[in-house]
Amino acid sequence: MAIATINPTTGETLKVFLPLKDEEIEAKLHLASQTFQHYRHTNFVERSHWLLETANILEREKTDLGKLITLEMGKTLKSAIAEVEKCALVCRYYAEHGPNFLADVSISTDASRSLVKYQPLGVILAVMPWNFPFWQVFRFAAPALMAGNVGLLKHASNVPQCALSIEEIINRAGFPQGVFQTLLIPATQVADLMGDNRIKAATLTGSEPAGVSLAVASGKHIKKTVLELGGSDPFIVLESADLELAVSTAVTARLINNGQSCIAAKRLIVAEAIADRFEEMLLAKFATLKIGDPLADDTDIGPLATSKILADLDNQVQIAIASGGKILTGGYPIKEGHGNFYPPTIIVDIPLDHPIAQEEFFGPVALLFRVPDLDAAIKLANDTPFGLGASAWTNNLQEQERLITEIEAGAVFINGMVKSDPRLPFGGIKRSGYGRELSTQGMHEFVNIKTVWVK
Ligand code: NAP
Repeated sequence: MAIATINPTTGETLKVFLPLKDEEIEAKLHLASQTFQHYRHTNFVERSHWLLETANILEREKTDLGKLITLEMGKTLKSAIAEVEKCALVCRYYAEHGPNFLADVSISTDASRSLVKYQPLGVILAVMPWNFPFWQVFRFAAPALMAGNVGLLKHASNVPQCALSIEEIINRAGFPQGVFQTLLIPATQVADLMGDNRIKAATLTGSEPAGVSLAVASGKHIKKTVLELGGSDPFIVLESADLELAVSTAVTARLINNGQSCIAAKRLIVAEAIADRFEEMLLAKFATLKIGDPLADDTDIGPLATSKILADLDNQVQIAIASGGKILTGGYPIKEGHGNFYPPTIIVDIPLDHPIAQEEFFGPVALLFRVPDLDAAIKLANDTPFGLGASAWTNNLQEQERLITEIEAGAVFINGMVKSDPRLPFGGIKRSGYGRELSTQGMHEFVNIKTVWVK
């Protein structure tokens, strides 16, 4: 895949970048490891200051940065600006709370002094996806840099200008040169990089195959990884739910980011007793959505990020239809123009035992399933190789407790959509990956949790 900006709205190639040569990669690795030697000795006051300055720049320049995001991957401008604002928030969060999360913890033992210390690991490689091209990077970078680590970013090949812009912002905020660098390289070079002694750990947000590849490469060298992979999150609606709110939230939760979110509500699982009304209301809301230019204020759904994503999604929809699934709306790519437009689509009656029911649909396609009761809802929700998030709607307290306890996922949201929040840990189980980002737990992923014992 070429490293290039290709406007998903028009199909036009705007800028192509040459991948770094071996000697350029070497120079960046050298700078990163040299920088770590002095950056690790900077203090929390300095790092907080640089993070706060990063937040200031993001807030000041959110409109231009939002336009860059929209240009490269097609989300609506309003959502791109909101993404930049959220990056500022995560910088402020770690600038304020990082020192507490990393403070020494004294523990009484038989020693005269024993404690836990959190120390940085060194150079961390971040392999990141295009779908939230700023947020995914900052949710790694803010805690990692606050902890005294140094970052190298291998971003998705279709968002090179976002990648370069993030490096430039972090430098401009005052972080020492070399604390955060972008490597414009193809995915095929990641495994070799993991063998370099100067890289101590890695995080990857992306697809399952990419996660497997990084895990194998880092396993060979016994290096710590965090993997944030795909999901096919259930969105369960039971009889006692506030139906109006559940339906409108289902629309947002399925279609957020033009349907390309790991924690989108991909499988709508609805109790039979309310399923007809749910379906009718969902269809009515889908019909009001405006698809078009992501820069326009009134657009709800922009193009998919690349022509390959469009082709892959359409292929899945055709398999779903061939398996017996029925289309309630959408179901075919929009042919006018050269953009990657796919309409919001609802599919019902996919046979549960067909392999397509187990796949992640990374676009604006909702799979709608009916279930007789809570037991069946939980069983279906868990019948997936993934375990990222789950949203469940019921006002019955006993049902809520069972859902919280029995759903196999990294997060369960009751009467709300799954979302990330700097204050709460984020991550999956099963084939959605391992490790956590955000909150205290996320910050502790890339530190040496050192035990100190003094007689
Ligand atoms: P992808 O192809 O896996 O790409 C993600 C990143 O991994 C890109 O930088 C890509 O580089 C790189 N990559 C691809 N193959 C690789 C390999 N074999 N070794 C090392 N790096 C590799 O992911 P995508 O399909 O663009 O993104 C969508 C997926 O990400 C979905 O499954 C979604 O659910 C998941 N996701 C998960 C989260 C989460 O937090 N759990 C958040 C967002 C997205 P190139 O671009 O150069 O190929």
